Amino acid sequence: MTPDDYGHLYAEAHDEPAFSNSDEGYGWMDANCATCIHDKPARQGRDHEGCPLILITLMSKRPIQFLDGPRSPEGLYNIADQYRCIEYRHENDGPTDPQPIPDPPGQLTLLPREDYQGHRMLTQAPQETAVPR
Ligand code: SF4
Repeated sequence: MTPDDYGHLYAEAHDEPAFSNSDEGYGWMDANCATCIHDKPARQGRDHEGCPLILITLMSKRPIQFLDGPRSPEGLYNIADQYRCIEYRHENDGPTDPQPIPDPPGQLTLLPREDYQGHRMLTQAPQETAVPR
């Protein structure tokens, strides 16, 4: 993900605000984006190279990369855990791009990898609901 991806990230984002107010937004960003490699350039003064997902939240949309964090049975959440950003990488974690294991030299490839590489989207298991009798 790079700042150049902003257009398609914006287009696929949910049409609803990610945060209900600025306290929630900046609280979550302090707990997550402040150590993320995708916003490191902005922290170094190069705002135009910052994380495009933050920009999308400032445009009142919710990136699809934000998955709900843990919720209490009443639906309450901690501001820092409101979302889990699937693009988060700690700035000390190494390269941001996936580093696939290379094909062994001299071996034939049965299937091309390209179609099977990408994001692994985790979703919550459906909640069991009581069936009325
Ligand atoms: S990728 Fe996610 S956690 Fe990282 S800076 Fe962007 S919005 Fe924040």
